[in-house]
Amino acid sequence: MLAAITLRVRLPHLGVRVLRSPALGVIGVGEGSTPDFPRHLHSYLGIDPGEFLRKVRPSWKLGIRFEWGSRLDHFNYGFHPAFADRLRDAETPAGAGLGYVIGDERYNYHDRVSSLMEAGKAFGRNEQGVQLHAATGYHIENGDLVAWLESHAAAVGVEILDGDLGEAEPDGEGLAAIRTTDGRRLEADLFLDASGFRAELIGKALGEPLVSYRDSLFCDRALVGGWDREPGDPILPYTTATTMDHGWCWRIDHHDRVHRGYVFSSAFVSDAEAERELRAFEPRMGPMRVVPFVSGRRRRQWVGNVFAVGNAAGFVEPLEATSLLVICNELRNLAGVLADSGCAPTPGLRETCNRFCADAWDEIRDFLAVHYRFNGRKETPFWRACRADTALHAAEAVVTFYRENGPSMLAAAELLRPRQAIFGLPGYLNLLVGQGVPHRRGDLRTPAMARLWERYSADNAAAAARGATIEEAFPLACDPSFRWPRGFYGGAG
Ligand SMILES: Cc1cc2nc3c(=O)[nH]c(=O)nc-3n(C[C@H](O)[C@H](O)[C@H](O)COP(=O)(O)OP(=O)(O)OC[C@H]3O[C@@H](n4cnc5c(N)ncnc54)[C@H](O)[C@@H]3O)c2cc1C
Repeated sequence: MLAAITLRVRLPHLGVRVLRSPALGVIGVGEGSTPDFPRHLHSYLGIDPGEFLRKVRPSWKLGIRFEWGSRLDHFNYGFHPAFADRLRDAETPAGAGLGYVIGDERYNYHDRVSSLMEAGKAFGRNEQGVQLHAATGYHIENGDLVAWLESHAAAVGVEILDGDLGEAEPDGEGLAAIRTTDGRRLEADLFLDASGFRAELIGKALGEPLVSYRDSLFCDRALVGGWDREPGDPILPYTTATTMDHGWCWRIDHHDRVHRGYVFSSAFVSDAEAERELRAFEPRMGPMRVVPFVSGRRRRQWVGNVFAVGNAAGFVEPLEATSLLVICNELRNLAGVLADSGCAPTPGLRETCNRFCADAWDEIRDFLAVHYRFNGRKETPFWRACRADTALHAAEAVVTFYRENGPSMLAAAELLRPRQAIFGLPGYLNLLVGQGVPHRRGDLRTPAMARLWERYSADNAAAAARGATIEEAFPLACDPSFRWPRGFYGGAG
């Protein structure tokens, strides 16, 4: 639905049809996003944020609280370039001081967003009132999102056909048509495979192979469930990722429900044992179901006249909740190529698009690998294997540089290729420092820098304590009279 809406809105002369299967329904997972998703909706597609909040009722997510690594109880991965703020103040451009000291308990006050997370607040507040900011993703119920997307798709002129895909009619490298199980034959110039893990067109019909990520990501199953929120329970403005014996579990807060899921490796634990572990950890869990998955991406996402998007194109576990980001990225690429080529994309453009999409997937794999390689929290066979065997790929260079130089921003341009733009070096450094990965640089803080850090972290903590919770801010932002500042969501893509 997101693909259909994106194409209709960005290329309004195109006719777009969706084949939807009421029998198969929706996956019912996929609840956390990065800030890219609201930007895609409200900036790139021009969807009114107030209307979206009123209809879909997402809650805001400022980042991820990682109960992870060896030195701190937890560290925050906030959606904000933490280093940028700090470098403005620091006496040294290397970022060696100001709380980036391994094990400093005040580490989580290293920027304003992370400080808000510490306080359980979503937004700051000043004399004018609550100050909304756009360094937020959404926590969103998959079913509610899809229902709204369906109604919006219809409103922007997408034709929705109910039925199940039966078979595809090949034509050269691509397809001439698809057939539904009830005998309809549907032709198109371009087919988007958005069939999720079933990968009906790109996988089953065209046989495009999957590039496996199994040398970096060992998990292959998730237990998902949750419970109804008790009245008065605060809505946490972040996802929590907690280290478990054979993987990790998330907690995502919605207005009426809390979702938890346990991502684990079937090579180390059975479904039943994983469920016992999760129930012991979280006794409020209601019924659970298991979702198996394979981590990897298609070698090419665009083959002939078939473009795969979402889980059909690739999948990694939601440790950084990146699927919606990837989907939006893929769609902006596709729309850009179609617009640029007058809907007659050359092989070179398709190849560029394929490389761009593949690089995004590989970048996410590498970033997730760093989580696994350095999580020293548990001494179980699973975590020992992760620490010993996780392949870092392109992240190896970042880690080597960090071990030698500490959390320095100096080599950002050299360490990351221009297209590695999802997490950036601040993201890597936050992850390495937060997990307590040792480096050989030592603590180079001067007394002046230490005083600056004291003041800076104390100011952040005090400002966060005055902030507004989701419960306080949500009615305000939903109010039809609320005026969203112009350009609030900036530009996407
Ligand atoms: C455990 C888990 C947790 C996740 N958490 C997150 C998260 O926090 N954040 C995030 O961004 N993403 C998350 N994801 C990814 C999430 O699944 C996707 O972002 C989201 O579901 C969109 O993916 P999709 O549209 O490609 O696939 P799906 O949502 O699975 O949609 C595929 C659609 O294709 C239809 N279909 C399939 N076969 C046929 C057929 N033969 N005929 C007709 N229709 C068909 C299905 O009915 C379905 O509606 C998670 C995934 C898993 C497994």
